[in-house]
Amino acid sequence: MRKPLIAGNWKMYKTPKESLAFLDKFLPMVQDHERDEIVLFPTMSSLGYVLDATVGTNVKAGAQTMHWMNEGPYTGQTSPTMLASIHCTHVLLGHSERRIYAHETDDMVNWKLKAAIAHALTPIVCVGETLDKRQTGLTEAVLRWQVACALNGVEREGSEDLIIAYEPVWAIGTGSTASPTQVQEAHRIIRQQVSDRLGPDRAETTRILYGGSVKPENVALLMAQPDIDGALVGAGSLDPETFCRIIMYTGPKG
Ligand code: PEP
Repeated sequence: MRKPLIAGNWKMYKTPKESLAFLDKFLPMVQDHERDEIVLFPTMSSLGYVLDATVGTNVKAGAQTMHWMNEGPYTGQTSPTMLASIHCTHVLLGHSERRIYAHETDDMVNWKLKAAIAHALTPIVCVGETLDKRQTGLTEAVLRWQVACALNGVEREGSEDLIIAYEPVWAIGTGSTASPTQVQEAHRIIRQQVSDRLGPDRAETTRILYGGSVKPENVALLMAQPDIDGALVGAGSLDPETFCRIIMYTGPKG
């Protein structure tokens, strides 16, 4: 019912030339892969090239962030209208690196989510606790709070494409993955919060991805959990062979 989605977040890596070199190898490797949806998130300077190169393939591309306004005096920003105009389909919102380094607040994530919905962009809203919050027993409170803030004023109608990524801050780029049991529990809490806000039927269809040091070696065990509907992969998505091995995991959903 929930088609698994494996996404690659390229962060601030790869020039347009390097992005196209990746696709030259990657697209033939995954061209017959139908089980999972595949989405790449290149840098803004590569996005147009990647969108052009993936037309007619089973790989989609999205932006790593966007502003919530359509246009205006916001130097350095890209608007939802602009993304939609280049046929960009997906957008990452509230990634922890944006929250930490660009000071994105829960309110901003909420405004961006509403803008993404208004422009028919598929949003992947990132939430996740810091190590400190986990160690002090606040994981559930943080996740419930972040999801509630993101969904504030979002209607059930129109939220059909909502995707949430659970990305514990302590697992991103650190090599230490959360255990399948920890992730399953976090996803259960997130799904419950979506249910409380948007209703049980919307919670049932909302895909919840896990992100945080996903590798070819751990993806199958994670994907075996009932509430894990895919992965958001950083470092493991930069090399075409490695990312392909992650996508082609075998297991209960494989
Ligand atoms: C990410 O950037 O969303 C991420 C999960 O990174 P990594 O896989 O490198 O931990």
